[in-house]
Amino acid sequence: MLGQMMHMPLTISSLVAHAGRYHAQTEILSVNTGGGTEQTTWGGIDANARRLASALGGLGLGPQARCATIAWNNRRHLEIYFGVSGGGYVCHTINPRLFPEQLIYIINHAEDEVLFIDSTFIPLVAAIRDKLTTVKHIVLLETEVGGAGDTLPGIVAYDALLAHGDTGYEWPDLDEQTASSLCYTSGTTGNPKGVLFSHRSTVLHSFASNLTDSIAFSAMDVVLPVVPMFHVNAWGTPYACAMAGSRMVMPGPGLDGASLVSLIDTHQVSIALGVPTIWLGLLGHAEAAGSELKSLRRTVVGGSACPPSMIETFRERYGVDTVHAWGMTEMSPLGTINQPLAKHSGLPMDAQHRLRENQGRPPWGVELKIVDPDGADLPHDGETQGELLVRGHFILDAYFHSTAAETLQDGWFNTGDVATIDPDGYLTIRDRSKDIIKSGGEWISSVELESIAIAHPSLADAAVIGARHAKWDERPVLIAVLAEGAEATPEEVLQIFEGRVARWQVPDTVVFTDVLPRNATGKVLKRNLRDKFGEVLLV
Ligand code: AMP
Repeated sequence: MLGQMMHMPLTISSLVAHAGRYHAQTEILSVNTGGGTEQTTWGGIDANARRLASALGGLGLGPQARCATIAWNNRRHLEIYFGVSGGGYVCHTINPRLFPEQLIYIINHAEDEVLFIDSTFIPLVAAIRDKLTTVKHIVLLETEVGGAGDTLPGIVAYDALLAHGDTGYEWPDLDEQTASSLCYTSGTTGNPKGVLFSHRSTVLHSFASNLTDSIAFSAMDVVLPVVPMFHVNAWGTPYACAMAGSRMVMPGPGLDGASLVSLIDTHQVSIALGVPTIWLGLLGHAEAAGSELKSLRRTVVGGSACPPSMIETFRERYGVDTVHAWGMTEMSPLGTINQPLAKHSGLPMDAQHRLRENQGRPPWGVELKIVDPDGADLPHDGETQGELLVRGHFILDAYFHSTAAETLQDGWFNTGDVATIDPDGYLTIRDRSKDIIKSGGEWISSVELESIAIAHPSLADAAVIGARHAKWDERPVLIAVLAEGAEATPEEVLQIFEGRVARWQVPDTVVFTDVLPRNATGKVLKRNLRDKFGEVLLV
């Protein structure tokens, strides 16, 4: 016997239709690419998303045609998220920091037919235009094309395209399993791989984000997604905010500390989300500018391990709760969020603070396990470390143009991370499996050493690699960037590890460098560091 409840597909259009209907007056503030700000509402976003879907139909696109974006976090990009997916097409967000060859590869691999671009990226696209074999329409996210037609013949302005759209457009009734959006993983080796999300996975992920013990956006919040809309759909923030009816502040191209502090203070931002490096810049500027970040209640930090010193500064200096989260593109991306349990409230404050440092526990919809190299399950005792496998409602089954048999391991997805899980499900990421340091048969976590090193007052940035060693195979070496005007010897820097890790885990030496190489999503390219500094202990 089946239940007798209405069956309404879980679609992305239902999110924006809800926001447009019940939060019509709720404001969306957006920083323009060319400077200045503009303001719209969820009602305006819904209306324009409908016009866009209708206008795309007018271009003669077929179902699930891929429409790509190379754009900042702004109002038009938000409309594209809902208009493209809601209309039954696939919204493919592209990271502009990829190398030109990677851009060409993913645009052709995705078979993108429409390319929406911000004016910043006109030269980037013009340089590769003749290699893009499937792109039929290029749309500039502006009112008019201006001089862009000289470098990109045939380019049309977004506002001109929208003028052909119908605001009375009714969202189509799609199967909830229909593909809705596509992101390629940044991949430090090999070609990027596509993760094809569905309407259903996106809506369920939004529910998981909005649980009280998760990110928990509310209609009372002003949300600043600093995480780019080309990095796993800004961690799903636009969808979850539409579901909750939150106000949003879209930061546009300026993600420096000064711009962010000004946006937070001017628009009373209550929740901001981003990777640790962004917050380093913001904290530095807030201190210099004397800002109290008064409106900010919560920062959500993920993408790389959040240093405990950052959590402490936010808490002690600004009264901001930092929610440390872990995830990956293949998981939509939310995998775990660090929120406490009732039993923790009786613990001394110090212990409570320490418990907030790891990557957290899974929300409903995600299951975790760790296995040994043969795939056998390992205990969740908080001590044993193993390869981290996941499965759940918003985790991929197969990469785009690939199969589940090629992608999964016994029905689970192998994250490539090495972790421990405690009996309550709290996860500690020890390393990417290829970055963990194997010293004489013992494993040393580079993530843990980096989290400690970054708290050193003389350092602006830090990474730890396994350098080749004649006796121990590998030993940790700290690659450090000095803070502006700071001076320190390797010995002075290494003192910070004293009493914090076992003596044999302390890096053998420190190599100072000007800047750490990072990939397109801000992760340190350890492979490049190993190529450059991997033999420093052999000489
Ligand atoms: P991406 O798909 O580009 O977001 O990369 C996902 C990877 O980033 C994960 O597999 C982790 O290795 C790393 N990562 C994400 N969040 C964290 C975190 N909070 N702590 C440590 N590593 C993280």
